[in-house]
Amino acid sequence: MNVEELKELHELDLNNKEHHEIKTWPLENITPQELLDKALEASKFAYVPHSHFHVGAALIFKDGEIIKGCNIENASFGLTICAERTAVANMISHGLKDKNPVAIAVVGSPEDTDDYLKVPCPPCGMCRQTLMEFAPDLLVVLASHEGPKVYKLKDLLPFSFNL
Ligand SMILES: [Zn+2]
Repeated sequence: MNVEELKELHELDLNNKEHHEIKTWPLENITPQELLDKALEASKFAYVPHSHFHVGAALIFKDGEIIKGCNIENASFGLTICAERTAVANMISHGLKDKNPVAIAVVGSPEDTDDYLKVPCPPCGMCRQTLMEFAPDLLVVLASHEGPKVYKLKDLLPFSFNL
């Protein structure tokens, strides 16, 4: 499968109605596209000598504060951490656990392309579960060829694990 076929598959999958793309956006001072742009800024700091796939995440709170994260790889591959979980670690370590983030934007792309804001980079399952722990009502903003799309984390991770 080549990159173009992969892009088409992603688009098809995200256009599936079962993913419940939502059309309402609760934040007044920033658009979904602007939040994606913040995630793009974060992706520039990605440490990706092994995959060369840069990912950035921008987590925004109701008051407009933004916490970012990028993916950080390791020669011992299992130690690699995704951008979304880096953003969560950043949030927790800054004492912002109870601040209730509203949305997270995620962008990703191989470093030899410029498709960050055209191809969706959905959070992996591990990141969805991590986000669910701290922000079950979170919105997830993803890039697409048609512009930003917004989803509910709950719809992307149905029947999540809980204690
Ligand atoms: Zn992940």
